[in-house]
Order: sequence, then C-alpha cells, then structure tokens
Amino acid sequence: MAKRDLLKALNQSSILNVIKTHGPIARADIARTTGLSPAAVTLQTAELIDLGLIIEKEEGDSRGGRRPILLALNADSFHVLGVKLTETEAILALTDLNANVVARDAVTLDSAQPDLVCDELAQGIDSLLAATQKPHQRVLGVGVGMAGIIDSLNGVCHISPYQKWRDVPFAALLQARLHLNVYLDNDVNTLTRMELLYGAGQSMHNFLVITVGRGVGLGIVANGQVYRGARGAGAEFGHIVIDPEGPVCACGNQGCLEALVAEPWLIKQAQACGVRIETPEDMVKAAAAGNAEVRAIYETAGSIFGRAVANLITLFNPALIILSGEGVRASDYMFPAMQRAIRRYTFDDLDDGVQVRVDELSDDSWARGAASLVLERVFSTSGALARLDVERR
Ligand SMILES: [Zn+2]
Repeated sequence: MAKRDLLKALNQSSILNVIKTHGPIARADIARTTGLSPAAVTLQTAELIDLGLIIEKEEGDSRGGRRPILLALNADSFHVLGVKLTETEAILALTDLNANVVARDAVTLDSAQPDLVCDELAQGIDSLLAATQKPHQRVLGVGVGMAGIIDSLNGVCHISPYQKWRDVPFAALLQARLHLNVYLDNDVNTLTRMELLYGAGQSMHNFLVITVGRGVGLGIVANGQVYRGARGAGAEFGHIVIDPEGPVCACGNQGCLEALVAEPWLIKQAQACGVRIETPEDMVKAAAAGNAEVRAIYETAGSIFGRAVANLITLFNPALIILSGEGVRASDYMFPAMQRAIRRYTFDDLDDGVQVRVDELSDDSWARGAASLVLERVFSTSGALARLDVERR
C-alpha cells in the first residue's frame, strides 16, 4: 500500500471521528482537535464531502458577521449491517453512520453447519436490503458478532461454544455470498466497541464491559483500544477458575466463574432446592415475591461475582465498569452483595471513584455492537488500518 493512501485513510478517519463526536464543527476546530494543518483539513474534508460522508451546514454562532460554515456527519448517506449470531437465530440490524437502527429482522437458522448458516444469513440480509431499498453500494459492510474465540483480523472463528465450530473462516464464507465486506468478532468485544464509539466509553481510555446472562463475558478497553490477546481470545472471564472442586462448566473445566454465577446455573441451584422455576424471568419473579432460597442463591452468586470483579479492578484499574447482559435483570438481588465484595476485595483503594453503570441489553444493542465492527473502520485510525488490510486481500 502506498504510504500516501495510508496517511489519507488515517487523517480521514480522525477527521470523521471528530465530526461524529463534536459536529457540527468548523474546519478550524477540526484542525485544532486533530492536530492536522488547516490545509490538510480543507483537502480531506473536500474529499469526504464528495464521497457524501459529510455535509456543510451554515449555522452556529454568527455574532453579527458571516455565519460560519460547519461540517456535520451525513449519517444517512451510508448504511452498515450488524448481525448477532447464535446457534438458533441471527438478529439483523441495518444502521446509519450514527449506529441508529433503521431496519431490523431476525433469521431462524435450521442448522449450525457453517455453509448452511451462510446461505440462510445471506438470504436474510439480501431480503432486508431489498425491503428497505438500500442498494448494496450504499452498505459499507457487514459486522458479525458471536460468542467464542474469534481471530477478528482474519475473520476466523477458532472456537464457538454454542455452534461447536472449530477454525471456521466465517467472514470469507459469508463475504463470498454477499459481495460485501464482512467482519467477525467476539460479541462482547463488539458491544465494548459500541460503548467506545457511541456509548459511555466515548471519553474513556480505560474501561471494562462485563456481561452476565447465559454466560459471563468481558471486554477490555486499555489505552483507548479494545484489547485482544495473541489468538483473539481477549478475555474469557467466564472461564477463570474460582473453585476447582466446583460444578463442571460447559467448557469441561470445573468451578469456572460462569458455572457459579451465570443464569442456567442459578436456575439449576434453585431447582435443586425444590423451587419450581424454568426460566431466568421466573427466578427474578420468585426473588421479587420474597422466596428466601432464591434470594440466598443470588446473594452468594453476587459475592462470588464481586470478588472476581474486584480482581479485575486490581488488575486493570479501570475508570468505568459497564455491567450488561440479560442477567442484569437480577441486579436488585445480586448487585448489593457484589458491591460489598468489590469494596472488600479490591487492592487498597483502587475501587474508589470507579463508576459502575448497569445497562440492560436488547437484541438491538447486540446487533448495533456488531455494526460497530464496520463503523470502527470508518471512524477510528486503528479501524482504518484494518479496513485497508481487508481491502488489500
Ligand atoms: Zn468454563
């Protein structure tokens, strides 16, 4: 790749990011915020206007003189598709450049076999685009989020616990059917990226997203970047071993955090105590009705979870923790014990000033998260590098 193309992509990404975050904004302020020269900003914004990504707006404080021309994101000019993939269905969301969902759909998957999943998914995506009359040329790409260990750079799913895939080059398989760029990542990482680009993490350099529900997940933002390990595992927080004598986890190990605090395990414990419940919703209702066994189970789970979170705070010193996932529906019963354990077990006073936010997740949030895999390539410089890498392939 020519060095010139690389520089241009990086400059345009950082300009777009400033316009997305602070726009409408004057060219002079973009230059100040990005550190680029006014001439470079004029040149690159002209190209972005040509592409239709940004527009000029005549507004702002005039103070008698000529009203300054401001630049704003043309959020509706392009769209992005986000897909949250599970073993039984795919949730699709078409978003604009601000990650607002403009259309959604769900595709039931009859098989977990990668080729068949691709066929059904591609059909679903094509019909969603046809129904919304969005031409393929106006769709910047498709982001897919799924549970498991994902090599996001190469679009390969190394291990998926639910589909039982091993080393499936899913991005390439889907891309061949759709003729759109396809990006793949772990679903909790996609949520984390959404928080970084559009959510509570926009102004944060170090924060954690912890999900609880069917399993336990963790996304780490360190120094402004989503952390991924050498093999893309990032953070399999749910499988840190808490009690080697504990119950056998879905992963085959014993006493993982997930096997002690995730919803399916809490339901099993309640059932073992003779409480007649089937679903996580039933369990929350039982707690609300004052069932002492269920409340005790939540409380124990809250303390175990809090101890694990205290260890994370000790390791990462985050400014913010976002608790998310379907399991937050039990927050009234689990989180007080969790907070006590965080206080008790965090090293020194590192938990002081850590903001904790609880976000209830919807299918939309997962799908928007997946869309952010594509949006990142528009708005962040590390994303721009990844995009050029894919285009070169
Ligand atoms: Zn495990």
